[in-house]
Amino acid sequence: MDRDPSEFPIQYIKGVGPQRARLLGRLDIRTARDALYYLPYRYEDRRNIKKICHLSYGIMETATGKIVSMDVVKLPRSHFKIFELVISDGTGVLKGKWFNQPFMKKNFSLGREVILSGVVKRNPYWGIGLEIENPEYEFTDDDAENLIHTSRVVPVYRTTAGMSVRLLRSIMFNVISACTERLEDPLPEELPAKYHLPPLKDSICNVHFPNQEADIESLNKGVSDYQRRLSFDELFHLELGIAVMKKGETREKGIAFTPEGILVKRLLEKLTFRLTGAQKRVFGEILNDMKKPYPMNRLIQGDVGCGKTIVALMAMLSAVECGYQAAIMAPTEILAEQHYLNIHRLVEDLGLGICLLTGSKKERPAGETTSGSMHIIVGTHALIQAGVKFRKLGLVVIDEQHRFGVMQRALLRKKARNPDVLVMTATPIPRTLAMTVYGDLDYSVLDELPPRRSPVLTRLFYESRKQVIYQAIASEVKRGRQVYAVYPVIEESENSDLKSAMLGKTALERMFPGYRIGLIHGKMKTAERETVMASFKNREIHILVSTTVIEVGVDVPNATMMLIVHAERFGLAQLHQLRGRVGRGSDQSYCLLLAYPPVGEEAKRRLEIMVKTTDGFTIAEEDLDIRGPGEFFGTRQSGMPDLKVASIVRDARLLELARKEAFAMVDRDPYLEKSPRLKKTVEMFWQGKTDIFKIG
Ligand code: ADP
Ligand code: MG
Repeated sequence: MDRDPSEFPIQYIKGVGPQRARLLGRLDIRTARDALYYLPYRYEDRRNIKKICHLSYGIMETATGKIVSMDVVKLPRSHFKIFELVISDGTGVLKGKWFNQPFMKKNFSLGREVILSGVVKRNPYWGIGLEIENPEYEFTDDDAENLIHTSRVVPVYRTTAGMSVRLLRSIMFNVISACTERLEDPLPEELPAKYHLPPLKDSICNVHFPNQEADIESLNKGVSDYQRRLSFDELFHLELGIAVMKKGETREKGIAFTPEGILVKRLLEKLTFRLTGAQKRVFGEILNDMKKPYPMNRLIQGDVGCGKTIVALMAMLSAVECGYQAAIMAPTEILAEQHYLNIHRLVEDLGLGICLLTGSKKERPAGETTSGSMHIIVGTHALIQAGVKFRKLGLVVIDEQHRFGVMQRALLRKKARNPDVLVMTATPIPRTLAMTVYGDLDYSVLDELPPRRSPVLTRLFYESRKQVIYQAIASEVKRGRQVYAVYPVIEESENSDLKSAMLGKTALERMFPGYRIGLIHGKMKTAERETVMASFKNREIHILVSTTVIEVGVDVPNATMMLIVHAERFGLAQLHQLRGRVGRGSDQSYCLLLAYPPVGEEAKRRLEIMVKTTDGFTIAEEDLDIRGPGEFFGTRQSGMPDLKVASIVRDARLLELARKEAFAMVDRDPYLEKSPRLKKTVEMFWQGKTDIFKIG
């Protein structure tokens, strides 16, 4: 082949053609290059396919034999059907079973030779019978290319209807034979040597068709040298893009604020507490950025309750003092409202104007944002939508970053002439990860909780022990404390049997006739909610029944107990956020998790973690582990390209190296002009996400 594989249509690879090209398109394979980077998701060791008589129970095994019988078996008194087939290799027989897939039968025929692999089990009704449930299967007599499919470590690819794994494997073999020779390696020469990484061509070949000495275990873990080489490349391309964007931003002109600190000083005089060391340090870092003549892009990470809001407010006041407006933007209306409620008194006491602007309240303050009387604007995404204009926006604070992406921030920057941007998140993740996921941001961490907080004691109860919970609530209220009771839904609904806030309130009222019980939820009007919150703050309500609206921002130090009903239904991050509502005073606080069976394995793990630790960092790591990075970070929304080979968790160390090298390279050559091939690769990698070189 004499063309660059990145442009060579897959259709023209031997054995493909238009129809199969369409099927491959469903796997996002359109060019030969796409195919080269479409990696196996696991490997099977067929270097020694065992005789059936040598198979062992309980482990992954592969055997081959002729089909000697097959049948669809109906279970008595049920609609359940099992398709079973039996193969023999002369030394024994092995059964394959597929549940509720009677249509499987048409894929097989008697006498045909097939490979079955999977975990071997003992059939309880069938003597010493060996069987595999839902085995992977392949025919050995399809074609003459058995060297690709047997007697070696074979790659197993995810495929699509109409294309067998075996066919896809043959196509891959053809792509690799035809294209790797022409594959150019854009990586700077010195890097593979420096990090002991094998050459690109070897890596591509071995990742698809491992050599005979390959270590199957490291392959299946994704950490063989060849896989590490490809992961490094991918992470390097990712970080180069980030480095280029970041460089572009610092070259852009922004506002150089020159606050004297008068407003901040007056604010601090009004506060009933003193700033923590971390708050002072981080505010210092922010001020430093604000004074520079290019736009600030800083991420503040701090666990629930560490006092991010006040730091943001100080930054906003610094901008206001210099004659600019400042906005704070939250991902939901409720969150925006909470911010408004938390800070509007402080702001107004300083003689400044503040308004709330959310989707449902657009009409009223739309004009106000343009007028000079509004210094601080609190809102949701509505702030960056068309039609909202600011008079002189200088600083934007974005709360809860993980729902805001690179794109949205870019949009925001257009609302004003390169305002400073401060992003706040409660998701505690390791620094390198943060740097990558949040891309182009600088990073500060609030790593100190305000004093006199004692860790919340957390206990898990199953429904059968509800009485203990009621007693605990009663004794807490008798001591003059207040209690939150959080429910997953507001009302009962026909298609779920979850306990609801409405029902919970009635039950608690019956249980505790002497107590005042309030209710707050997302469907109430803002003013109503405000009234309820105010009476809870004033201790007029003993038990506040709520939905997750109190997840964020609410602050009542006298509330020392939180009951979370159906705790098994909540995610870890959410449970941690909720629990952050108590433990805000100097007294011991409690979090009672009430779980209703059945509680699945994952849910059980989440609940155990909550009982075990209050440390946001540990919780985030466990959460990352349970949910996987994609879901955890919501990378799809964040404007980051998808990683096909690397894993930012598994390859954290490689990521660090790649980042270091990428930033050094961009420092020397901001637009990668001296490495045109690399530049093209990076552009391709970021395609459709951000046009990273456009700024230049
Ligand atoms: P988060 O970081 O979760 O957004 P908040 O900003 O809501 O936390 O702050 C949590 C609570 O701690 C608020 O009531 C706030 O007034 C209080 N707080 C913030 N800083 C301090 C401090 N240095 N000392 C005591 N309390 C503080
Ligand atoms: Mg907050």
